[in-house]
Amino acid sequence: MKDKKKEEIRDTLFYSRKNGYELIDTAERISVEKYAADYMEYLNNSRTEREAVSNAVKEAEKRGFVEFQPGMKLQAGEKVYFNNRGKALMLAVMGSESLEEGAVIAGAHVDAPRLDLKQNPLYETDELAFFKTHYYGGIKKYQWVTIPLELHGVVCLRDGSSVDVVIGRNPGEPRFVITDLLPHLAADQMKKTLADGITGEGLNILIGSVPYDDEGKDKVKLAVLSLLNDSYGIIEEDFLSAELTAVPAFDVCEIGLDRSLIGGYGHDDRVCAYAELKAIFEVKTPRRTCICILADKEEIGSMGVTGMKSRAFETFMKDLCVAQNVELRRCLEKSFCLSADVCAASDPNYPEVTEKLNDARINYGMGICKYTGARGKSGTSDASAEVVGFVRKVMNENHVIWQLAELGKVDQGGGGTIAQYMADRNIDTIDAGVPVLSMHAPFEVVSKLDCYMTYKGVLSLYNS
Ligand code: MN
Ligand code: MN
Repeated sequence: MKDKKKEEIRDTLFYSRKNGYELIDTAERISVEKYAADYMEYLNNSRTEREAVSNAVKEAEKRGFVEFQPGMKLQAGEKVYFNNRGKALMLAVMGSESLEEGAVIAGAHVDAPRLDLKQNPLYETDELAFFKTHYYGGIKKYQWVTIPLELHGVVCLRDGSSVDVVIGRNPGEPRFVITDLLPHLAADQMKKTLADGITGEGLNILIGSVPYDDEGKDKVKLAVLSLLNDSYGIIEEDFLSAELTAVPAFDVCEIGLDRSLIGGYGHDDRVCAYAELKAIFEVKTPRRTCICILADKEEIGSMGVTGMKSRAFETFMKDLCVAQNVELRRCLEKSFCLSADVCAASDPNYPEVTEKLNDARINYGMGICKYTGARGKSGTSDASAEVVGFVRKVMNENHVIWQLAELGKVDQGGGGTIAQYMADRNIDTIDAGVPVLSMHAPFEVVSKLDCYMTYKGVLSLYNS
């Protein structure tokens, strides 16, 4: 350092983060805007994991991906996908190297917090009809009342056939709502905590008010059932074998006078799912095979056949390995996984929960989390220095704007992602994704620049 001027020593030794807008040029700004517009359209049309998957399959097929069939010959550059029960998806672009050298995996999830209808949802009280719900994922219940809701899902009918239901997405269609008390009569409610003010059993969706023209009881319930029957052929018993869910009916939109942010439902984690998709669509013939995962059930612990704990992942990877005469375990131990999931953006309205040296800031790029977890890193796979070093090198070589962040202050709370389940499989794994404001709220906010940088980050890894 002796040969350097004082200010150069400072620049060399200190690490300082910069706002991404001070680092990108006009050409890249245009790329950011284009990318954001495409993402907004995808998110607007992907309100459930099923829709996120079917939209992804449509886009993949347009770009030459074909459904994987066991026994297929897989040459370098070949593009295949495996659709797991319509709720999770894995895509692969075969590399020029053997799978013995491992794969580069990016895994995001496409389920999001929501209000699932109970299996016996429909009832009438005081001449109003309602659906009972059971919330899915971690929500602050008070945020889900007095907002417009739309209904999505699938109903399996008595004869074994099934019908898709979407009500409220298109302009002109009716929407739904959960009511709340007026402030004038909320004296008791207002004394409760935010956790108790609205209860789980209180999340009942208003769906109708006009009685059916007959003499029996439950005439409003009968009237709404008859409307559903007219449109979808549904009888009440069909709800037992249905997956219907209420999601916020807000359109995805730009936020801010400068339009630099995107507001919408389900950024967590479709924003990273989209980044992975866009990236794998651009991969030509990579050195190592690239895998893109859109997982289900992350918000409730990655359980079930479509969650990341499912052997569906091994089945798909083994199928690819068998085609190349490679042992699965040899492939996995040399693979790398980016668990592409959102992180918490530092919110100036709530400075007390983040720690400034290690927070994720809006417009500071893709947020990489070495670890998540809670109470002394419990429940995290905690990536090694070597893994962070690898990602850091790839990001810097490819001019990706990124930041290293943790979820919040020590002992303030915590969380997890699919990272631990990938690491359990002997795959080097690290979390990285887009910082989100109001995460898990019906209307979340992300920055366009961070969305784009996450895509650029995933693409750089795929091409590494
Ligand atoms: Mn997530
Ligand atoms: Mn989440």
